[in-house]
Amino acid sequence: MIEEKLHEVQQKIAAAKEKRSPEIQDEVLLIGVTKNHDVNAMREAIDAGVTDIGENRIQEAKEKYAILDRNVTWHLIGHLQTNKVKHAVKLFDMIHSVDSLHLAEALNKAAGEIGKHQKILIQVNLAKEDSKSGIYEEDLAELLQQVDNMENLQLMGLMCIAPNYEDVEMCRPLFRKMRKIFEKVKEMQWQRANIIYLSMGMTHDYEIAVEEGANILRVGTGIFGQRQY
Ligand SMILES: *Cc1c(COP(=O)(O)O)cnc(C)c1O
Repeated sequence: MIEEKLHEVQQKIAAAKEKRSPEIQDEVLLIGVTKNHDVNAMREAIDAGVTDIGENRIQEAKEKYAILDRNVTWHLIGHLQTNKVKHAVKLFDMIHSVDSLHLAEALNKAAGEIGKHQKILIQVNLAKEDSKSGIYEEDLAELLQQVDNMENLQLMGLMCIAPNYEDVEMCRPLFRKMRKIFEKVKEMQWQRANIIYLSMGMTHDYEIAVEEGANILRVGTGIFGQRQY
């Protein structure tokens, strides 16, 4: 079941890549978002070819991390509280949700304490939704520069969550704008950063995200079915 759904998603990604404008050549990394799904579902997905998984809560990830007997890359995609950074740097290969100087400083310190270079993305709240985390576009450049100076962080790119529009086509201009911002950020002068990732697109909008230049997708429902809360 998971395997079939995964293959369906992979096929849709391949088809969406064909619709991109020719200057966008990026490979696409698919993250299977396993929040609220159990370790058996994770195993099934990994055995079917999922290489990267996304979780949004530290406690849940910790419990799964302890019992998951598979090699996989872990992504934190949900909001992170400063008091949980110690756990976050131990568990996650990449943290997508960095959106303030305060949080970046805490992560830098926690990563230093365990001798790690923590890969991070900066989350941008492009639509300025009150309900979402993320830094506003006008404050982005300053935060990027500050993070680039932090010796235990490796800045790898940007992440965004599009609003949950009923008409999914409304996401397109937003994704297009994010890709433009990403291109600009890539061209900036960096000390430590290696800007290669643009994480955008979830189950309802990932095809449009790919068409507009996403190179990391975070898909839960499309692979695992509805979450039970
Ligand atoms: C839950 C979640 C996803 C996956 O959502 P689906 O609609 O199930 O694909 C992606 N990104 C973030 C930040 C999430 O919290």
